[in-house]
Amino acid sequence: MSFLESVLHNFNKAAALTGLSEPQIANIRKCAAVFRVKFPVRVNLNEKTGEYDTMIVEGFRVQHSHHRLPCKGGIRYSEHVDQEEVMALASLMTYKCAIVDVPFGGAKGGIKINPRELGVSQIEAITRRYASELIKRNMLGPGMDVPAPDMGTGPREMAWIKDTYEAFHPQDVNSLACVTGKPISQGGIRGRTEATGLGVFFTVREAVNYEEDMKALGLTTGLKGKRVVIQGFGNVGSYSAKFMHEAGAKIIAIGERDGGLYNKDGIDITALWNHIGEKKPFLSFPGAAVVKNPESLLEEECDILVPAALENQINATNALRIKAKIIAEAANGPVTATADEMLEKRGIIVIPDILCNAGGVTVSYFEWVKNLSHVRMGRLERRYDQRSKERLLEHFSNITGRKEDVPAGVVSGANEADLVHSGLEDTMIEGYANVRSVSKLKNCSMRTAAFVDAIRKVARSYAELGVFP
Ligand code: NAD
Repeated sequence: MSFLESVLHNFNKAAALTGLSEPQIANIRKCAAVFRVKFPVRVNLNEKTGEYDTMIVEGFRVQHSHHRLPCKGGIRYSEHVDQEEVMALASLMTYKCAIVDVPFGGAKGGIKINPRELGVSQIEAITRRYASELIKRNMLGPGMDVPAPDMGTGPREMAWIKDTYEAFHPQDVNSLACVTGKPISQGGIRGRTEATGLGVFFTVREAVNYEEDMKALGLTTGLKGKRVVIQGFGNVGSYSAKFMHEAGAKIIAIGERDGGLYNKDGIDITALWNHIGEKKPFLSFPGAAVVKNPESLLEEECDILVPAALENQINATNALRIKAKIIAEAANGPVTATADEMLEKRGIIVIPDILCNAGGVTVSYFEWVKNLSHVRMGRLERRYDQRSKERLLEHFSNITGRKEDVPAGVVSGANEADLVHSGLEDTMIEGYANVRSVSKLKNCSMRTAAFVDAIRKVARSYAELGVFP
């Protein structure tokens, strides 16, 4: 099964449990708009002589659902991008937004390039041209379609997209909200960079807190001491590792593109972060042994496996050899539909991507709201909150006659990062509990339950629009 076929298979399986009619289901299943573009980009071979070559670039933007606008979804830069992959990812975005009650339709973009082989000026030229192509077709804008980072892109690319949009729409007072995941100085929000990894951490923490579920797996509750293997140490993988490590889990192995790291006592993630921060190669980290074949780490003996790189990593070939008891899908589509059924039969809990990695779009939503409200979260109430708590303390000390020294953190008001983290935590806890209760009620896997929950919410939206009788 291809990635798209896997998504459709999972969708169909869940749709059958929703009680909706076939036209209702068909209306949700398919992508609403698919855009493919091809454009030339000049590649300078020699700045001094003016010698250049021309590269033809292919890009996509797919809007899966318009039941709510704007559409929302990241942009991926990878040599593996194709139309089907973008369609699959756009579909997942619709369900993801529905699960965490983020009021967007799903979308996704992709450009078929290998950013590691290109210079910064070429990536900038490609990004700006791609953004212009979307703008020309009204496929980019605060109320229409709002991209975000994905694999191979980050705040830098989002800033270029915003800047290009503003060049076309200089009068749009809401232009900052045309894209999320921007640098703070360009209208970004504190907490977006780590949002997906932090959301992965919150869902895993929830999963291991249910005693009944852990008992069934032969595990105790809590993250402390749990052995974790991570695939991919990019944005999502590195932050997932950081937060789990800080909560006491042992990250025993990390697989990367060209090799892996292993330490049975747990890798010191803070030291690894510092190592990478000093621009040293991942595999030269001294605190772990190097593993030549990173794929083998997926089959390592552990409690929690976190695939945070690519799709189709756990498939019919290796599903029976997976030893983890919980798989947290930090990446999109890392487990194929066939493998998913094999894992389910073995009692392994798979926290599905559309729930597990929804932290990114949740905080993107907060950024969009911030951009439209034109005020930083916490700006109006932070000091007021602090003063209210201080007044309350003063009042009590006047009554009791006792004056206690109160640590600063107790009375301080919440700043933007505090609010974003707490909003994200609440969303992921609610999302996990909701999906788990559907899974118990329908006696189905967490993935099927997540799809059931999402499909029902999208269907309700169409019903309330009067699309179906
Ligand atoms: P990224 O580019 O920052 O990191 C991906 C990492 O995976 C890189 O370090 C890369 O070297 C590594 N990698 C690539 N091929 C590998 C392989 N075969 N084995 C092991 N490692 C490999 O991308 P990211 O933003 O962290 O995204 C990772 C996944 O998470 C993707 O599936 C993406 O769609 C999904 N996701 C990302 C976000 C987000 O906010 N960035 C949100 C939701 C979902």
